[in-house]
Amino acid sequence: MEEICKHLEDIQEIKVASELVCEECKKVDGWWVHLRTCQTCGATLCCDSSPAKHMTKHFHHTGHPVASSAEPGEKWLWCYEDEAFVEYE
Ligand SMILES: [Zn+2]
Ligand SMILES: [Zn+2]
Ligand SMILES: [Zn+2]
Repeated sequence: MEEICKHLEDIQEIKVASELVCEECKKVDGWWVHLRTCQTCGATLCCDSSPAKHMTKHFHHTGHPVASSAEPGEKWLWCYEDEAFVEYE
């Protein structure tokens, strides 16, 4: 049984990455492993397997709780605040 948080339940339409690059890594010629898209502001940033962990930093700086995977073929959302995960169609 999945436990879904309020933040995930509130999402009506999922924001997708406009470009498959980490916006912050791109500025400093950094590299990343996987990309995530913030569901509050639409920023696409790198995951926790990446050296700079920009999406986690974004959550701590902005409080934007939910990120989706921006990887092609991956359809899931993650809430940092509640550590809740959900897959979608
Ligand atoms: Zn939540
Ligand atoms: Zn990054
Ligand atoms: Zn954001």
